[in-house]
Amino acid sequence: MMLFLQADENVTWLAPYAYTIVLIGFAFVLFRVFEGWYAGKYNRPLFRHYFVFKKLKPSQLKVLQEEFYFYQKLSEKHKRQFRHRVATFIEDKKFVGREKLEVTERMKVLVAAVGCMLSFGRKNYEYVLIEYILIYPGKFYSAINQDYHKGEFNPREKALVISWKSFEKGYKITDDKYNLGIHEFMHAMQLEAKQSGDLDSSRFVKQFQNILKQLTDQELKDKLDETRFFREYAFTNQYEFMAVLAEYFIEAPTEFKSHFPKLYSHTQDLLNFRFAGY
Ligand SMILES: [Zn+2]
Repeated sequence: MMLFLQADENVTWLAPYAYTIVLIGFAFVLFRVFEGWYAGKYNRPLFRHYFVFKKLKPSQLKVLQEEFYFYQKLSEKHKRQFRHRVATFIEDKKFVGREKLEVTERMKVLVAAVGCMLSFGRKNYEYVLIEYILIYPGKFYSAINQDYHKGEFNPREKALVISWKSFEKGYKITDDKYNLGIHEFMHAMQLEAKQSGDLDSSRFVKQFQNILKQLTDQELKDKLDETRFFREYAFTNQYEFMAVLAEYFIEAPTEFKSHFPKLYSHTQDLLNFRFAGY
């Protein structure tokens, strides 16, 4: 009996704490609702990035500093965020070399950097549909359509598959409108947007609808025909169109913007990409 009473007393004494916990929970839910409303209204996440604590090894940092043009152009604050994201990516994904290719530290950093570049405007930057990065030295035979590929995203195997030769050429030549890494990461991002309901995915779906709407505009169609600005492959299907659009956005922003300002602006909103002169 004595014990019972004591327990009862304890509960009364704890009540204010319990209220506090409920209040914090409530505030958190309210914040998430506000965050969603804000992203819908302003086409960008309220906060892109909260914490920065992960560090790259000096050898990894050297690769970014010496070889990755986008990183060189970022502000100090964004550089710190970028390093954190690249470190997280390298930790999370499994890199596998194919046909006796040995995956080096440099390869990991550069693949992570291209992925994190495309998702840099997003809060959710991690590509949950990718678990493996398979790297072949050159073109590889793909069972999907029995042909040789330079890259593919295979959702069933949760794998991003690339030819290192093509990947390297893609990011090194920054203005030829070909970027294999950006292309394949966009496929993964778009499929995630279809399946997931997070802030960035909803923004993606909304802006992609805007892009499709634009494509029904006769004036725009005429201009696409007339300028032949985007390479033919873009018109294979919706997914290839978006992947090629991302390549052009990253590699030729000025040209893209001057030819197709509305398409450019929807792509920019879709990626929330406002860094380094974009
Ligand atoms: Zn493709």
